[in-house]
Order: sequence, then C-alpha cells, then structure tokens
Amino acid sequence: EPMISMNQIEKSYQMGENMVHALDHVSLTINDGDFLSIVGPSGSGKSTLMHMMGCLDKPDSGEYVLGGSHIDRLKDRDLAVIRNQKIGFIFQNFNLLGKLTAVENVELPLLYRGIKAKERRARALVCLEQVGLRERAGHLPSQLSGGQQQRVAIARALSGEPQILLADEPTGALDSRTSGEIMDLLTALNEKGRTIILITHDLHVARKARRTVSIRDGRLWEGEHI
Ligand code: ADP
Ligand code: ADP
Repeated sequence: EPMISMNQIEKSYQMGENMVHALDHVSLTINDGDFLSIVGPSGSGKSTLMHMMGCLDKPDSGEYVLGGSHIDRLKDRDLAVIRNQKIGFIFQNFNLLGKLTAVENVELPLLYRGIKAKERRARALVCLEQVGLRERAGHLPSQLSGGQQQRVAIARALSGEPQILLADEPTGALDSRTSGEIMDLLTALNEKGRTIILITHDLHVARKARRTVSIRDGRLWEGEHI
C-alpha cells in the first residue's frame, strides 16, 4: 500500500465571479521511502497541494489516503491528530520559537505528545546529532546561522518520528551554498529511509530529489514540465 494516494483531488476558490481551480483533478501516488519534489511557478497550486498533503485542509472532492487513513472523510478535529502523528513540517522561514533554545525547539513535538522531560531531552539530542548540531543544543535561534536554524527545524520535524517530511521551499531563505548543504542533508535522511516531499519553485533544487512532478495551473505532470 502506498504512503500517499491522491485520486482526482479538486480544490477551488471563489474569486469574485470566477472560480479558481487551485487543484484540478490531481492524482498522485507516493511510496514509503520516496524523495519527491513538486515544482511549479508562483500561483500554480503548490501551497494548496502542500496544505492538502499536510492535512491542513481537505479537498472539495476526490480521495486522499495517507498511511491508510482516509483524510477526505475525517472531521477537522481528527485531521489535526493525523497531522501531528504523521507529518513533520519544514518551512522556508524555519518557524523556530525565538525564546527557546535549539534543543527546546526540537522537543516541541514530543511535548505535545506528553513525553516526559528526560526522555524528551534525550530524543531531541539524538535528532540534533542527526543534523550535525548536537554541540549547538543550548543556542538560541538568533545565535545560529540560517542554515543552522534550518537544521534545527529539520531536527524538530524528525523528533515526532513522522512517516513523512513535508518541506515547503526549505532552501528559499538560504544562499546557494547553504541550500546545497540542506539538500545534501535531506538526501542523506532519504537514504536512511525517510519519505520526503519537497515543494519548490526552483528547478535546480527540485532536481536533487529522486522523482519530480510538475504543477501548472493546478494540474500535475510526472517529470519536468517545461
Ligand atoms: P503557489 O503556492 O504555487 O503560489 P497557491 O496554491 O497559493 O499557488 O495558489 C493557486 C491558485 O489558487 C492561485 O491562483 C491563487 O491565487 C489561488 N488561491 C490560493 N489560495 C486562495 C484563497 N485562499 N482564496 C482565493 N484564491 C486562492
Ligand atoms: P506560506 O507557504 O503560505 O508562506 P508556510 O509555509 O509558512 O506559509 O505555512 C503554511 C501554512 O501552514 C500556514 O497557514 C501556517 O499557519 C500553517 N502551519 C505552519 N506550521 C504548522 C503546523 N506545525 N501545524 C499546522 N499548521 C501549520
């Protein structure tokens, strides 16, 4: 059974008199262990698709099965539960809490799960180790470079042991060398078996994934769509 199965997903927005088909009959299958990039220009539907995949929103119609759960049939309350269990989010702007240290940020998903302080700390340190930042555990985000902050965010995404890492323009705020380092880290995590979905407008970044699909006007194509 695939990790993700989307079948004929539709999502539209009313804009004055017009309907915008942000997702137009999107079908997509993603297997456990895949490293998939979704590439498309601004306005193509990437954020809408990311929200759908990340269980932040439900489709107007179509079927979305994630790790055996029928997302399209869930109540909003249950959607949040599935999201917290199954998805680790990585954002363009890191979304770290500025008053918490690196290790405290990484502990957050574990705090929400009610894991006790000692075990939280131990597990968070293991995650920081995996992203090469064990020795910066006590630093505040403001004391870290952009690339280091994104590593902390990746460690936070890993700490809840999600089935999928969902990265939305993870290199968008980084220079090209640091971007390369973050992509190398994601590649290494994928080689250890992590399922990764990367959303980007940057074809150069998209090509680092093992499989690319393109989105244009809410429609999906396998491969690069020039
Ligand atoms: P991208 O992330 O690729 O820039 P989006 O998913 O944000 O694309 O947008 C896809 C289309 O849906 C665009 O035409 C956008 O204007 C429209 N859209 C997205 N969100 C909304 C919304 N909340 N209300 C109205 N239109 C929206
Ligand atoms: P955008 O791509 O539109 O600039 P982000 O990528 O930062 O925005 O976030 C996408 C959406 O996901 C936002 O609406 C944000 O509020 C929401 N979001 C961010 N983090 C989480 C989370 N951990 N759980 C649920 N929703 C989140």
